[in-house]
This record gives sequence, structure tokens and C-alpha cells, in this order.
Amino acid sequence: MALWFEESREERQVLGPFREFLKAEVAPGAGERDRSGAFPWDLVRKLAQFGVFGAVVPEAYGGAGLSTRLFARMVEAIAYHDGALALTVASHNSLATGHILLAGSEAQKRAFLPKLASGEALGAWGLTEPGSGSDAAALKTKAEKVEGGWRLNGTKQFITQGSVAGVYVVVARTDPLQAPSGSTRASPPSPSSAPSGG
Ligand SMILES: Cc1cc2nc3c(=O)[nH]c(=O)nc-3n(C[C@H](O)[C@H](O)[C@H](O)COP(=O)(O)OP(=O)(O)OC[C@H]3O[C@@H](n4cnc5c(N)ncnc54)[C@H](O)[C@@H]3O)c2cc1C
Repeated sequence: MALWFEESREERQVLGPFREFLKAEVAPGAGERDRSGAFPWDLVRKLAQFGVFGAVVPEAYGGAGLSTRLFARMVEAIAYHDGALALTVASHNSLATGHILLAGSEAQKRAFLPKLASGEALGAWGLTEPGSGSDAAALKTKAEKVEGGWRLNGTKQFITQGSVAGVYVVVARTDPLQAPSGSTRASPPSPSSAPSGG
């Protein structure tokens, strides 16, 4: 089966002005931003006007409701000029926002998706720890249920937007006694299988 990567007319209508914007606004300072490490809030605000911070979020939650393919092309277009900024957009959408879309309750979706989709708040996703990267199931951060919420206890590292985000999705262990290497299931076990962690 042949795969067809030609841009559709609809995609070109979005990508044309977007690429013009990137060339004019993002390309010029990219090298200097790499050197200084300054976080480009001004560009984040401008990028938000193109809907990229809620690219695949349904319109009902304030998103742009774009296809994953068009979103990928937008990230690719940003990365052409500024890899770090592209990672901000990609991780905000796919890691932080994506997990709320995938596994959040309706109340969490209503509370967090609109501000993430508009770019009012950036999202960060905290999985990696000093002692666990690829071996994610070995994570040690604990989440303990307390009155009115959860208490998190642990250390995360390498978290994109870790110092600038407004919404954090943190992966934590709720039952350290479960299964040797497992973190808690996101959904209940099927009746035929005993809880074992994941
Ligand atoms: C630019 C960037 C952004 C990031 N953003 C985030 C983020 O937003 N949130 C977040 O949670 N994390 C983030 N990370 C962390 C990333 O997820 C981890 O770096 C990654 O999971 C690898 O973990 P590690 O660095 O601990 O390396 P390790 O897991 O220790 O791996 C080191 C090396 O060992 C190899 N290896 C590991 N296990 C095995 C095995 N079983 N068999 C053979 N080889 C193996 C790996 O392939 C690798 O080459 C980011 C990392 C980078 C570089």
C-alpha cells in the first residue's frame, strides 16, 4: 500500500500563513535563544493565535480540533527553525494535554483543557526520575490521598516546561505494595485478572 504525504488543500491553507509567521518571527532569534536559554514567552503568546496549543483538542474543550497529521506538520514546521520551541509545542500537546484527553475525568477535562488549548497555561508531563527513565515502571514518586486532594512526594527530572508550566501531569505510584515493578493501573482490572500494577 502506498502512503501519500502530499499536503491537502486544507492543510496548505493553514500551513502557508503559519510558515510565513515562523520565518518572520521564530527564525531570526532562534540561535540567540539557544545560547541564552531564555524561555520565549512572547513567541508562545504569538503561536497560541494559530491554535497550536490545542491543536488536536476537540472544539468543545476550546481546542482547534485539527487532525494529528496537520498537527505533526505544524510541529515539523516549527522545528525547521527552532527545535526547542517545537518540543515545547509537541510535549505540551502530546504529553501533558494528551494524557488529560486520554485518561482525565470529565471534570479534569473541563478544568484544564480550555486553558491548555488557548495557551493561557503551558502543560508539563512528569514521568522521568533520577532513578528511572526508560524503565518507567520503576518510578518511586508517591501520591498519597489526603483530605481535599493528593500529596506528591518524589523527584522528577528532564521535564520539558518543568519550570514554566501552569498545569503538571505527574506520574506517581499510589500503592507501593502492588506488584514488584508496577505503578497503579489507570483503569480497573478486568474481572478475570487480579490487580498487578502495570
Ligand atoms: C529533550 C528531552 C526532553 C524530555 N522531556 C521529558 C518530559 O517532558 N517528561 C519526562 O518525564 N521525561 C522527559 N525526558 C526524559 C526522557 O523521557 C528520558 O531521558 C528517557 O526516558 C530515557 O531515560 P534516561 O535518560 O533515564 O536513560 P536510561 O533509561 O537510563 O537509558 C540510557 C541508555 O540505556 C538504554 N537502555 C535502557 N533500558 C534498556 C534495556 N532494558 N535494554 C537495553 N538498553 C536499555 C537506553 O536506550 C539508553 O541508550 C526528556 C528527555 C529529553 C532528552
